[in-house]
Amino acid sequence: MRKRVVVADYKSAYGDPVVKIRLEELERFVVTVYTREVFVLFREVLLLASNVRVVSSKKTSTCTLFEVAMYCQGRSWNISWGEMDDEFRCSCLRMESFGIPCVHIIGVLVRLNMIVIPDSLILGRWTKKAKQSPINNYVFSGEIPDAAYMSMHAAMLDDCRELVKLSCSYFEDYFEVKTKIANE
Ligand SMILES: [Zn+2]
Repeated sequence: MRKRVVVADYKSAYGDPVVKIRLEELERFVVTVYTREVFVLFREVLLLASNVRVVSSKKTSTCTLFEVAMYCQGRSWNISWGEMDDEFRCSCLRMESFGIPCVHIIGVLVRLNMIVIPDSLILGRWTKKAKQSPINNYVFSGEIPDAAYMSMHAAMLDDCRELVKLSCSYFEDYFEVKTKIANE
């Protein structure tokens, strides 16, 4: 079945064209790296990233410290960037918990004009390479969290629409798919 990559619309209410371009570039990069399931989750993060603004930045002897805030949220987060090894750490610790860079780090990547996600932020088990490897067969399980529900729902609808379109071209396909669905 034909696979389509939908480039999300990153135009926020504050629509900065440079931010939009950077986010689209990051999306194009991650779609080549992450598995489809992780890409769907990560896309949620990218969609929110245009709301991140860097409040301040300070260079120390070992790293650069950024303070970021999000529009309409009265708090801030601290991110450190070790330029030598491209190590990012955010005070929200989402990367450490979920293995996917948080929206704050993505906001800083955009500010740094990065168009690829550094290796240090890409967990091996979420990548297409890992999926191809028979020894690393990680699968998602359990209830889908609210944060991912909308985009996963939309992706499933897309696939269903595609299936309907494809299966209604020939009698053979139509009856085959119809029988499969009835047997489910
Ligand atoms: Zn964070």
